[in-house]
Amino acid sequence: MKKKLEDYWEDVVTCGHCRACTVMNWHVMEEWVPSCPAGEYWDWEAFYCVGRIEMARAVMEDELENSELLQEIVYSCTTCGACAATCLIFKGMDTVGVIEALREEMVKREWMPPRHIQLVKDTESLHNPYAEKHESRVEWAPKDVIDSGAKTAYFVGCTSSYRQKDIAKTTADILKKIGIEYTILKDEWCCGSPLLRTGNTELGKKLAKHNIELMKENGIEEIVFSCAGCYRTFRTDYQEMFDEELGFKVYHIVEYLYKLMKDGKLEFKNPINMKVTYHDPCHIGRHIKKNGLIKGIFKEPRKILEAIPGIELIEMPRNKENAWCCGAGGGVKATFRDFAVETANDRIKEAVETEADALVSTCPFCARNLMDAIEEYNHNIEFYDLVELVNKAL
Ligand code: SF4
Ligand code: SF4
Repeated sequence: MKKKLEDYWEDVVTCGHCRACTVMNWHVMEEWVPSCPAGEYWDWEAFYCVGRIEMARAVMEDELENSELLQEIVYSCTTCGACAATCLIFKGMDTVGVIEALREEMVKREWMPPRHIQLVKDTESLHNPYAEKHESRVEWAPKDVIDSGAKTAYFVGCTSSYRQKDIAKTTADILKKIGIEYTILKDEWCCGSPLLRTGNTELGKKLAKHNIELMKENGIEEIVFSCAGCYRTFRTDYQEMFDEELGFKVYHIVEYLYKLMKDGKLEFKNPINMKVTYHDPCHIGRHIKKNGLIKGIFKEPRKILEAIPGIELIEMPRNKENAWCCGAGGGVKATFRDFAVETANDRIKEAVETEADALVSTCPFCARNLMDAIEEYNHNIEFYDLVELVNKAL
């Protein structure tokens, strides 16, 4: 079951204020490398994880009142989980769980940033946070796969349905090329990630319920996702919220393609002569845990890239569980755009330093923010979603 703020009381009051959560894992990095985008941007203790943990205690003890500053501190966290990854070494607090529970408490007290109030209204009435018409969700999709009755569903998600449509179209192309019988369900709703990450748990649960019922009604046995956030929401949040067998398997597209590759059902024919570096989306990286340990999808995207003839993969210094967040998650892109794009700019600079021709990732939300930084800061590097390279290579 998803924990409430008061369930974290013991964790919160035993935080040693050691500040390990402000840096990446030093055993791996071999030096002190900053990990918290919000803390680095605002450059004030309150904006690091340790500050938000203290806010959680103060809210529980009724020491704080609503203020614009409190909202800014609590809602500027991208929920990237870099802090949780290092706290794991010392104490093992689920710091992102605490921050999300604090947001849930603030929602209950009506202490939400105004931008989030609109986002919640749009998602409730239109089933997407972009204020787009629900009927136009599948406009981009091949007609023959909409509600086709297949047992494999491609859950497209709001960002690819309405903004990064190329990722949706390319994923559909790949599934067709490799002969997967799949469907896209017309009545798919937002997975709920923007709501759950910002403390709007009740509405998030309503969306989750709808999507689970929809999958059951259509006899779906497995779901493929091209969005890291949707995947994380189904895999972890839906499971936590309902505490029951969901009745279907979930795969991020890189897991799905890697599985086919291992079974000898996916081969790349066309070479792509390009040096690339790979950005790990937080939602399929640090957010994926097993028995309390991080078990992210790190190997699969790298193996796929390495299997494409002509591709040379160069790692950025901060990678896998120590990856720098793109800056968009946790409701940040909608509320603190400058901070989001500057955080992406830090990532792009790191990618440029590898001398790669292109930065590759596998999440439409990361894609949007990273491409915004490339454009706005005039960087000389291309961006591809991994599915775009796979499609070219097939
Ligand atoms: S690493 Fe954990 S215990 Fe240390 S300050 Fe951060 S949250 Fe507290
Ligand atoms: S989740 Fe990321 S942005 Fe939020 S406090 Fe932790 S490191 Fe900072």
